[in-house]
Amino acid sequence: MLRRLRLGLALLALGIAVVTAGCATGQAGTAAGDRIPVVATTGMVADLARNIGGDRVAVTALMGPGVDPHLFKASEGDIARLQQARIIFYNGLHLEGRMGDILVKMAREKPTVAVAERIPEERLLITEDGVEDPHIWFDVSLWMEAAAVVRDSLVQLDPEGASTYRQNAEAYLAELKGLDEWARAELATIPVGRRVLVTAHDAFGYFGRAYDIEVAGLQGISTATEYGLADLQQMIDLLVEREIKAVFIESSVPRSSIEALVEGAAARGHQVSIGGELFSDAMGPEGTPEGTYVGMIRHNVRAIVEALR
Ligand SMILES: [Zn+2]
Repeated sequence: MLRRLRLGLALLALGIAVVTAGCATGQAGTAAGDRIPVVATTGMVADLARNIGGDRVAVTALMGPGVDPHLFKASEGDIARLQQARIIFYNGLHLEGRMGDILVKMAREKPTVAVAERIPEERLLITEDGVEDPHIWFDVSLWMEAAAVVRDSLVQLDPEGASTYRQNAEAYLAELKGLDEWARAELATIPVGRRVLVTAHDAFGYFGRAYDIEVAGLQGISTATEYGLADLQQMIDLLVEREIKAVFIESSVPRSSIEALVEGAAARGHQVSIGGELFSDAMGPEGTPEGTYVGMIRHNVRAIVEALR
């Protein structure tokens, strides 16, 4: 009985707190109901929008942890969310390969912005087949360009919040600059000969270029293209010849391909370990450090340094 009474009082207090909070922020135009509905495709893009939009926006990510953006198709619920948004942010460069039609359709109705849109062509990686590599978030300095796109798009949509967006962006860009320098310094501690990063798919091209690491993926830059036996064999050759000690699984790609590599190398008498799980095309669970962009990069850098050094 006493417990129930306490619970009742606690709920009452909570109710008052909610009402008070509603009034307080209501004056500033940022009560939950007043927030600008923003929809982002990947978790990384959503994280940008949250950091820069602050409490003026309510951001929904369509793709959660472990979801592969190359293969993602929008459900009816996702389409409803896109329709309710006032602005949509996506990565672009065909990362969201199966959302092309819906994004074109949305662009006719509301600002639908590719965060990669302002990256100069000469800074993009292009495959032998002439395809642009979409994994720009792995070079923190490129992701800073994406942050500027989000800032300017929000300023244009909601000029009243301009100073908030600019301040948030300035603080976040400073954090990213620090992250970039930290990652470079950490990765530089791996002896040059051991700086080879082998993963399931080619998500780390920008990472390799930015931080001076050779990268090799079993699948190409999109997981939509499957790998064949020849690719597997070639990769096993690389592991054996270069005496590579560790390969990495990715949270958004089935681990079977990397296990096949480990087995293949073992059959040739070369022991390779799995150097841990990297967050490549999706962030970690919400509420964990890896559930943010900064945390995911830190996790990856630590795992790579630990396994290769
Ligand atoms: Zn990818």
